[in-house]
Amino acid sequence: MISVDEALDQLLALASPLPSETVPLIQAAGRVLAEAAVAMRDQPPFAASSMDGYAIKSAEAELHVQLKVIGEAAAGHRFDGRVGAGQAVRIFTGAPVPDGADFVVIQEDVERKGDLITIIAEPGDKPNIRPAGADFNKGTTIDAPRRLSAQDVALLASMNIAQVTVARKPEVALISTGDELVLPGEDPGPDQIIASNTFGLKAMLDSLGAHPRILPIARDNETSLKTAFKLAEGADLVITIGGASVGDHDLVGDVAADMGLERSFYKVAMRPGKPLMAGRMGQAAMIGLPGNPVSAMVCGHVFVAPVINKMVGLGDTRPAPLTATLAEPIRENGPRTHYMRAVVENGQVTAFDRQDSSLLTVLAQANALLIRPPKDPARAAGDMVRYIPL
Ligand code: AMP
Ligand code: MG
Repeated sequence: MISVDEALDQLLALASPLPSETVPLIQAAGRVLAEAAVAMRDQPPFAASSMDGYAIKSAEAELHVQLKVIGEAAAGHRFDGRVGAGQAVRIFTGAPVPDGADFVVIQEDVERKGDLITIIAEPGDKPNIRPAGADFNKGTTIDAPRRLSAQDVALLASMNIAQVTVARKPEVALISTGDELVLPGEDPGPDQIIASNTFGLKAMLDSLGAHPRILPIARDNETSLKTAFKLAEGADLVITIGGASVGDHDLVGDVAADMGLERSFYKVAMRPGKPLMAGRMGQAAMIGLPGNPVSAMVCGHVFVAPVINKMVGLGDTRPAPLTATLAEPIRENGPRTHYMRAVVENGQVTAFDRQDSSLLTVLAQANALLIRPPKDPARAAGDMVRYIPL
């Protein structure tokens, strides 16, 4: 049995960065930038008013000053003339500030009668002008690699970048195994349950920017499992779920070996998730996850996410644990690293009493995995412990 860190080392060695592709900006969210994106222009491209008011000379921005309105500048429509002494131009937010003006007095500080305005409140020192290039200049870059957030997409759009170069989405084949499984929405027989972690893993893979495919459920016989592996051909990562223990019906190891799996490891000293398997199958990396729903999801967070991140060019992203104080005591740990389902709130962490690896209700309430090293002694309330957020 190897440690979690050794398993991660071996898994990351199985995953290579994928080639890049160009996608339209509307498909860029969640993808990982493979080449720096370079701004095509300054933003704003001109000095722009940040308020509705009157563009004037700052030297004249004083209480009781009277000025003559000579024109108007709105967003998208500049005023072509020049603001001279004693003059003002009506201006709106986003409009270019006319030549000659270097101050916008806000409309609330002005009284207007016909073409004449009077400044009726102390206008202050804030010019209410956004200088050209205040946000970014032509040539400003967003550097790669970077997983693009909604904010990044807005910034890219503002830079007039309509297409980005990103890592190709990893193709992931998800093979659920078991005679007992049916899909959500189907009508389960009396001895059947619903395939659940398959859908949790699919959701996780979607959020990581992968392209997961849920394959038909493989039944607990060699032919069915072989068919599933064949359907997985072409994937960058093949994930099996279940069938990985040493029970009579646990066939994944043997069938995968028949199909050419070069195994890197089998069994990791962790709880939940001990019967984890990994290796190379032709071009693809293969991960055999345990079937218990919580085990599969925890292994998804701890192992599958870093593998996907490596494939999309983010390098080694294994989670760096955070620290919190224990709100309630916990018992000593056994010989394997334990990822306890827990809640972190205001810097305090509480592990759930029920830690069985089949309890999805508990996992769904957890926002953290409290990490217990092997043989960790009993811990008291107030002790510092490590966790990874979920
Ligand atoms: P196994 O590793 O095949 O022995 O499965 C361990 C446990 O996980 C058994 O109780 C299975 O019924 C359950 N299980 C296996 N695969 C899934 C799945 N995709 N969704 C939910 N439960 C599963
Ligand atoms: Mg099974």
